[in-house]
Amino acid sequence: MQDITGLTLSELEENLKESGYPLFHAKQIFSWIYKKGVLDFNSMSDLSAELRKYLKAEFFLGNLKLVKTLKSRDETEKFLFELKDKNLIEAVIIPAENRITGCISTQVGCKFACKFCASGLSGFKRNLTVPEIIDEALYLKSHCPGGKLTHLVFMGTGEPLDNYDNVLKAIRIINSGFSFNIGARRITISTSGIIPEIERLAGENLQIELSVSLHAADDRKRSLLMPVNKKYPLRNLIPACKEYTQKTKRQVTFEYVLIKDLNSSLQDAQNLSKILTGLKLSKVNLIPANAVKEAGIEPPKKLEILFFKDCLLKHGINVTLRKPRGQDIEAACGQLRLNYVKK
Ligand code: SF4
Repeated sequence: MQDITGLTLSELEENLKESGYPLFHAKQIFSWIYKKGVLDFNSMSDLSAELRKYLKAEFFLGNLKLVKTLKSRDETEKFLFELKDKNLIEAVIIPAENRITGCISTQVGCKFACKFCASGLSGFKRNLTVPEIIDEALYLKSHCPGGKLTHLVFMGTGEPLDNYDNVLKAIRIINSGFSFNIGARRITISTSGIIPEIERLAGENLQIELSVSLHAADDRKRSLLMPVNKKYPLRNLIPACKEYTQKTKRQVTFEYVLIKDLNSSLQDAQNLSKILTGLKLSKVNLIPANAVKEAGIEPPKKLEILFFKDCLLKHGINVTLRKPRGQDIEAACGQLRLNYVKK
């Protein structure tokens, strides 16, 4: 038995063909699962009884059990799921004016141990499989009014580029017009800066968005905050991002979480402006940190945040100040899972 949500449309067609069924049934099955959200083969009423019997014998559906839901005052909603092996993962829905964004996890825990992130605090367990990633997106879609999940970000627990093959296959399934039909430009991979995989991604011919977590503008400070910087330091990462933009003609977004007394001074802003000078296709998202008590993290004062932003603007950097979302619901990445495990 295999998990049907781990298959691309052509893989499902191949499977049906080998078993003597017409190929067009694959599109019907995709439509039931991804467009109508039906996760029970018996209810796929336009399939013959014989085909439904075949599907039940060959495949299964569903990897996630909902354990907990938290809804913020700002409508951000966070879900904690238990996987079949009892591991826990998180996913989030972030509604905004004209879009609903789903934020999904790619690993159980994370091996990169960024100091500001609750996911890194409990270590790495394993990669998520393709169907587990797809099932997160399916659950979020089913939870959106009218099933209208418009954007997807791979920004939950885990480093997506450390689970490269599964994440890329999941993206190809999600991007298909016969499944979720979420356009590539509405799908974002967020990385802590794994240089070889950024180079690999540049050759994929995918129009997805790439977002790189910087959070500091000099190697000493970034290595303290993000140990991955010791292996892939800024002096190599920024040129790799430049090459990515040149090769793909796509923009790179740099995420910079502002943390009190750590990376939010005027000097930090000047350093950031300096390293990004000349990187034309780029923008910076400034995000005041969500407080993570376990890691001693707090956001800076409002005035300090505004000075930081102004400094980047004066240096001609394309910058947006983002609101932290879901602050009242353990919003930092991995926080819900961590607190649940601790209980
Ligand atoms: S920020 Fe991302 S890469 Fe860093 S520990 Fe958290 S999940 Fe891992």
